[in-house]
Amino acid sequence: MSIEKVYNYIIVGSGPGGATLAKELSKEVKDILIVEYGPRFTKTGVTNVTPIFLDKKRKNIKTDGGIWIARARILGGSSYLAMGNAVTPPEKIFQEWGIDLSRELESARKDLRVNLMPSHLFGEGTKRINEAAKSLGWEMKPTPKCVDFGRCKGCGQCMFGCPTGAKWTALEFVDEATQNGVELSLNTEVTEVLHENGRAIGIRVYKKGNKFEIYGKNIILSAGALETPRILQNSGIPEAGKGLALDVYQATYGYTEDVGMQNEIILATYLDELIRDKELFSAPYMYIPLYLVRDIGGYAPEQLSITNLIKIALKSKRINAKRLIGIMTKIRDEMTGEVRNDRTIRKNLTKKDKKKLDEAYEINRKILIAAGADPQTIHRGIYESGHPCCTASIGKVVNEHQETRVKGLFVSDASVFPSPLGMPPILTIVAFSKRLAKYLLS
Ligand SMILES: Cc1cc2nc3c(=O)[nH]c(=O)nc-3n(C[C@H](O)[C@H](O)[C@H](O)COP(=O)(O)OP(=O)(O)OC[C@H]3O[C@@H](n4cnc5c(N)ncnc54)[C@H](O)[C@@H]3O)c2cc1C
Ligand code: SF4
Repeated sequence: MSIEKVYNYIIVGSGPGGATLAKELSKEVKDILIVEYGPRFTKTGVTNVTPIFLDKKRKNIKTDGGIWIARARILGGSSYLAMGNAVTPPEKIFQEWGIDLSRELESARKDLRVNLMPSHLFGEGTKRINEAAKSLGWEMKPTPKCVDFGRCKGCGQCMFGCPTGAKWTALEFVDEATQNGVELSLNTEVTEVLHENGRAIGIRVYKKGNKFEIYGKNIILSAGALETPRILQNSGIPEAGKGLALDVYQATYGYTEDVGMQNEIILATYLDELIRDKELFSAPYMYIPLYLVRDIGGYAPEQLSITNLIKIALKSKRINAKRLIGIMTKIRDEMTGEVRNDRTIRKNLTKKDKKKLDEAYEINRKILIAAGADPQTIHRGIYESGHPCCTASIGKVVNEHQETRVKGLFVSDASVFPSPLGMPPILTIVAFSKRLAKYLLS
């Protein structure tokens, strides 16, 4: 990185949005810089990766309405923690948006080597849930995943970095881009975009205790839907940050006599028809900390405090995850949240959101009972999320070419979604970046 040079493109953030742009633009353009807040992280496994889920103050991120948000601020962004689900959203969402991404989605599926989850990798819990759903008239379909199943060893640890490299992450695109000559500045926080006479001219950054400026003709913000709006707000675009949606999800769990889901690949199948009929994304799921603790006799473990969980773990009375099965449901929540510059996130579930989650709970409960779960042990998990979006959406903060009112300042990440998907977003984010790259190169 040089502070003397004027880059053609400065890309802020290296998640699926930023990495795709870097890869696509670098095929034809020189002098591109990626500026990434975090380090290159290569460790895998629960113990090594769990700290990545926490913020600087070693806390999980939670909204004022009590919704947990998971994300990673490292090279490759949250794709490092992703479960590899690569579901193409239904056509009706793109019609609602008035945006045709079909070609870009096709190209994204190829680049991300999307394949259907093979049945020989289904765990015992998933198989039981699939059969139970079928007995009630619902068909669980194999989930499309951006995983090379030839290399996958079925360890079920996708959220903790893939030890075999079978799962696609945005690091692959970053590496391709750097091989094409793109420069990379790690551990560098972008705080603001500089502009003069309505035209972007560079960024202000913070690195190793120093503040300085880097100049560029075009700036693309891909810092994710929680950080891009803060940079925009600092840069004189105060309307960014509103409309936050999270694809909030909640799981339903139950204990059986004979089967559980410990260490299996979760979200291996999903209830396709619920997406179509009710905009609910339901799939077999296990709250990951349950991999670590066992047997507290049927409590909802997430309702226990960390201290109590530790006490239980120390007493070696561990939650019996070997007998626990679960189904989670993501909803297309309403765009009522807000990312604020004071680092708080406002987001409560609306009545409509809660109604959707209640409806999902009833369906999940029926399936779990049919799968052999004791009705007395069925309980709901916490409100979780990992898909923040819509905080600089097309039509509100950016125009159809993803450009803000500051010329040369673009956004390409989940912030630009006009409304939430209610399902895994990586394919759509990659597709938006491919679309923007095409526009910029033309
Ligand atoms: C546990 C988990 C599992 C998931 N599983 C799936 C899945 O299976 N399928 C799916 O489709 N989606 C999944 N997701 C969601 C998906 O990972 C995200 O939606 C996606 O990564 C968002 O991409 P993005 O480019 O918008 O932003 P991000 O991935 O958030 O990338 C933003 C990047 O910008 C950097 N950055 C932030 N602020 C600054 C700054 N000020 N200066 C410089 N750099 C900055 C960050 O460090 C990060 O690298 C999952 C998410 C989580 C957390
Ligand atoms: S289950 Fe497969 S894709 Fe997931 S972490 Fe293990 S090897 Fe990687």
